[in-house]
Amino acid sequence: MSSAWFHVRPAARDVWLVAEPSHVNSWLVAGRDRAVLVDTGLGVAPIRPVVESVCPLPVDVVNTHRHFDHVGGNGEFPRVLAHPVPTTCGNATERASYLGWMQEVLDAAVAYRELDRRYLHLLSADSDPRPLPDGLERWVDPGPPSGPDPEPLADGQVLDLGDRTLTVLHTPGHSPDSLCLLDDRDGVLFAGDTVNTGPIYAQAPECDLEAFAASTARLAELGPDVALVAMSHFGRGVAEPRYLVDVAEAFDRLVRGDPTVARRPARDCAGDEVSEAVFDACSVYLPAD
Ligand SMILES: [Zn+2]
Ligand SMILES: [Zn+2]
Repeated sequence: MSSAWFHVRPAARDVWLVAEPSHVNSWLVAGRDRAVLVDTGLGVAPIRPVVESVCPLPVDVVNTHRHFDHVGGNGEFPRVLAHPVPTTCGNATERASYLGWMQEVLDAAVAYRELDRRYLHLLSADSDPRPLPDGLERWVDPGPPSGPDPEPLADGQVLDLGDRTLTVLHTPGHSPDSLCLLDDRDGVLFAGDTVNTGPIYAQAPECDLEAFAASTARLAELGPDVALVAMSHFGRGVAEPRYLVDVAEAFDRLVRGDPTVARRPARDCAGDEVSEAVFDACSVYLPAD
């Protein structure tokens, strides 16, 4: 199912990817009685009608963390749950920078699409960026956050959807409030921004590399409890469980100060200079040298 801005497809049993292609992924997971929408995206277009078109159950929102690209549609839902540790959500300046980034992605996609069609064959409806909706001036400076105050989630808390439970794993590192949800029935790990297949963002002042290493090690230790990793950004929204081990090993090398880790300059989606630590399977953005 597709709207002008979202692309929705089943990704596992009663799990749907709700993609804002090339920007951010939200995930819908349904049990017998209720469903959880893991994050609500950028908020540049209404997400609730898209969710309701694939799932008739009552939907609670769980935010993997409260960065602006994960909470944009919170106000469309009656109940929101999140980890209570305060974090910075993203002010109008950051949103304006991101809007510039969105346009940059769209402009670059014209040439990339042609290369992809001829040689690479990687783009899909999940990842091929779509034209921006109108009216984004208000999105840049939306005023105070709308929507219900989040109910606090704690590490180890279990959410019962009927015939299916989700366990909350508090995984600080990317932000103090980052959490993952583990689907106890089918082993889908909703990883938020703690794990991504593009650069993993550890460069912001509120990022904590030691905590990131501990959190990613914890995810790697879940072992066979994880069947599929569902993530928030970039062209590959799902990964095999082995990827958790690759990411944990990368963070372990970073906190140990491994001098053999390759670094190169890069630029994040706010347009800021960063240093990208490059590993075989993943990369991590760190503060610029
Ligand atoms: Zn984030
Ligand atoms: Zn994000």
